[in-house]
Amino acid sequence: MSPWACGIDGCSAVFDAPEPAILHQTTEHARCECQVCGAILPDGYFAIRHAFEEHSRAEYVRAYGASAAEVRRRETVKDRLEAEANLELVIERLERAAASE
Ligand SMILES: [Zn+2]
Ligand SMILES: [Zn+2]
Repeated sequence: MSPWACGIDGCSAVFDAPEPAILHQTTEHARCECQVCGAILPDGYFAIRHAFEEHSRAEYVRAYGASAAEVRRRETVKDRLEAEANLELVIERLERAAASE
């Protein structure tokens, strides 16, 4: 199985499971602002999920200047994460971390 790369801003962190990759993206990188609605989101998976679930593909392309190939690439990442990652576990860990801050 291929490793899970972070990939945010050229970050070279690689993980052998999807959950630590998402936790890394969410806790180690600065939050980003949605270019469509201005919501502040954790970068990485959660930003991609927000963009595709809250906004249309056309809005996304317009706001980010993304090409169809880039949209497809992000959709592929999202689909792979949702197929293979235990997202409930990730969210539970994040909530526990936030509560202990
Ligand atoms: Zn990273
Ligand atoms: Zn948004």
